[in-house]
Amino acid sequence: MPYQSPISPGYSWYEATIGERPEYQPLDGDLSVDVVIIGGGFTGLSAAAHLAQAGTRVALIDAHRFGDGASGRNGGQLGTGQRAWGEELEGQIGFTRAKALFDLAEDAKAHLLNFAATHRIDIDYRPGQMSVVHKRRYLKSYQAHVQLMAERFGYAHLSFMDAQETAQRLGSARYFGGLRDAGTGHIHPLKLVVGTAQVAAQAGALLHEMTKATSIVSSGGKVRVTTKRGTITADKALLAVNAYGENLEPVSASHVMPIGSFIGATVPLGNDSPVIPGGESVDDSRFVVRYFRKSADGRLLFGGREIYAPGDPKDIHIPIRKQIAEIYPQLKDVEITHAWGGYVGITIPRQPFVREVMPNVIAAGGYSGHGVMLSNFVGKLYAETITGNRDRLKLFEELRIPPFPGGRRLRTPLLFLALNWYALRDRF
Ligand SMILES: Cc1cc2nc3c(=O)[nH]c(=O)nc-3n(C[C@H](O)[C@H](O)[C@H](O)COP(=O)(O)OP(=O)(O)OC[C@H]3O[C@@H](n4cnc5c(N)ncnc54)[C@H](O)[C@@H]3O)c2cc1C
Repeated sequence: MPYQSPISPGYSWYEATIGERPEYQPLDGDLSVDVVIIGGGFTGLSAAAHLAQAGTRVALIDAHRFGDGASGRNGGQLGTGQRAWGEELEGQIGFTRAKALFDLAEDAKAHLLNFAATHRIDIDYRPGQMSVVHKRRYLKSYQAHVQLMAERFGYAHLSFMDAQETAQRLGSARYFGGLRDAGTGHIHPLKLVVGTAQVAAQAGALLHEMTKATSIVSSGGKVRVTTKRGTITADKALLAVNAYGENLEPVSASHVMPIGSFIGATVPLGNDSPVIPGGESVDDSRFVVRYFRKSADGRLLFGGREIYAPGDPKDIHIPIRKQIAEIYPQLKDVEITHAWGGYVGITIPRQPFVREVMPNVIAAGGYSGHGVMLSNFVGKLYAETITGNRDRLKLFEELRIPPFPGGRRLRTPLLFLALNWYALRDRF
């Protein structure tokens, strides 16, 4: 029976193609370390790898297997910059901070690729990204964005595509135009999870899967994490549970909201398929974004359906196939071999949530669908903080992220209404 994440729906194509991967035994006993990390996704594993490499005694626990949250199951698209465009951020926080955050994201991108190359982690990297426009009226802002990024943010990898070029590069005439980013690409995320865990373990990090933190307490200069069969005492802690933290810690839980997102993998489309002949990844201009790309073996990996109501959907493949057919009518009956989902951690302004939530405990998450490169880098920046330099992590800590209104009981129904309104707006 193939392993299937118990906390995220469906069996992923990533899991199906990863092969045998090392298992890390559950914690059994008490540990005392410098740093304890809760959560074995990109954020936690990257922090563990960098801390252990710097000689810090670090232990990391995950309630399930590494990558069972968002990190092993996402769209694999690195993107560029922050989730919000540079000009949008500039309007909110001024040019200097917006540019610093843009530059940080560029560092994040370079870091991810260097880390994988240095440690010989084969992440199936494919270059190229296209952002395409589903409403004609958005075209002007996309065109202006290309120019602004080059002139004001010093990013010259974007080019504007008219409808004809978009149709050629996409293999679909469904969109009105878009932009192409030659400075980024996409990866097999679970391979990065597994590789990062191996780097961390080899550097001396103590890694434990199937070990759920049931409480975290900070008192008298020490942090104590309790699990079913042991405790971990440390000077500092990183809470890297993102959208999966449930009630473990209330401050981060009130700022980061889980939203389901779902992906389907088709059968391989064959070498003569007109679908994305250049191999780029794609996202579109909907608020409820559709994101798709070809896998290394020629499948279409198509993501898009976000569920705002609580509870896991059945038959993920049915709406996914419908969305594929809107863009590629010839694939209306295509076989979907794998369909799965996960929970994206979002914040109200769709910017990361990084905050000291109790003495010596920093929480990081809420990358709002833009966490593949950012979460890996935030892990590294957390390690930097422990080894004495908090300047770069501070850029995220200074973002003003409000809690979701409505408290624990009302926030889900309120968000459900708000996001469904946006989903409706996408259609008109
Ligand atoms: C379907 C989908 C598609 C996405 N596509 C993209 C994309 O294309 N590009 C992009 O940039 N981003 C994308 N994202 C977002 C991206 O995957 C995340 O931002 C990123 O993986 C977050 O990593 P993380 O380590 O912070 O959290 P996660 O990977 O979610 O890890 C959190 C971990 O914490 C563990 N945990 C929770 N509670 C406890 C506890 N009490 N004790 C121990 N462990 C605990 C969980 O088991 C989990 O493993 C997508 C997300 C999803 C779900």
